Amino acid sequence: MSWIDTHTHIYLPEFTDDVESVIGRALKANVQKMYLPNVDQNTLEDMLRLCQRHPNKLYPMAGLHPCSVKSNWEEELNHIQSVYEANKSSFIAVGEIGIDLFWDKSTLPLQEAAFHRQIEWALTEDLPIVIHVRDAFDETFAVVEQYPEVKGVFHCFTGTVEQAKWITSRGMYLGIGGVSTFKNGGMDKVLPHVDKSRVIVETDAPYLAPVPYRGKRNEPAYIPIIGQRLSDLWEMDLKDIMSLTTTNAQNLFRHG
Ligand SMILES: [Zn+2]
Repeated sequence: MSWIDTHTHIYLPEFTDDVESVIGRALKANVQKMYLPNVDQNTLEDMLRLCQRHPNKLYPMAGLHPCSVKSNWEEELNHIQSVYEANKSSFIAVGEIGIDLFWDKSTLPLQEAAFHRQIEWALTEDLPIVIHVRDAFDETFAVVEQYPEVKGVFHCFTGTVEQAKWITSRGMYLGIGGVSTFKNGGMDKVLPHVDKSRVIVETDAPYLAPVPYRGKRNEPAYIPIIGQRLSDLWEMDLKDIMSLTTTNAQNLFRHG
């Protein structure tokens, strides 16, 4: 058994100089698989090329991030979908998609429209969705609620016990990352009360590095630190956290 980093952006410029060492350190830390969520049409080719260099280790997703949803979103999504069509068997999810009202509230109607269209796309392709939500739980839930059959994960979950229950009672998953290790992150009050069979782990590298690397560049080799945090909060062996979260991830993402 090994770890899976279910959300990592190691194709971004932050990793241009040393991505092979980053992957090497991940494998050494027994993080044997990494799932790569897309941002927009500018990141798609780099992500795909990196995944093709590391088959059965790196897996790409296709999607348009809510912060990249502008007035031309339909055009951009058409392009992303055409790249998806040409490489269909490689992709394991539609992501990351969702609603972000922290950076720009004015695009909410566009973000909602793009979110709807991408959920419908995922359903057509029988793929899970990877959801990004920031300052927009109500707006996001209102959309997701309309698709009871959709499967997916709320990535970088930092919400309340009630929000966690809303998610897991719909059969969806919670992506837990570095914020769970922050002293002021509040997750020590939430995580003991969530459905463990719906928890998967992620770094969201290069962002949100766990303590003691907080503020520095994050990388997939830090996944066991997040596992250790769950191990402490749930009073379970680290090994059992690894097999639980990996099994959960394999249940959600189709490559097995
Ligand atoms: Zn992300």
